[in-house]
Amino acid sequence: MDSSWNKFTQFLSYKAERAGKTVVEVSPRGTTQECYKCGKEVEKSLAVRTHKCPHCGLDIGRNYNSSFVVLKRGLEELLGQGLPEFTPAETEPLPRKISASSVVETGSSLR
Ligand SMILES: [Zn+2]
Repeated sequence: MDSSWNKFTQFLSYKAERAGKTVVEVSPRGTTQECYKCGKEVEKSLAVRTHKCPHCGLDIGRNYNSSFVVLKRGLEELLGQGLPEFTPAETEPLPRKISASSVVETGSSLR
């Protein structure tokens, strides 16, 4: 491996560990051609700056799509399994009601 790249990843890992984070290396191969949403390959030349997927209809910036592919690969690597499609978190009602009298506005005096 290239020595300066090796030093960079060592430094990055060191800083990440100190911050309680994890560094995951992923293959950059095909990140500009892969659709992050459906996973299909969408060939485009370097001059094409937009990712328009004919398979799922995704239409976003080329680099924006690539960043999601990199994130997805990293998370898959970290979790050791395929990810389900990005879905919003399940929402539930609050476990109990909070009465208005227990809510104290910022700056108000407590009695
Ligand atoms: Zn797609």
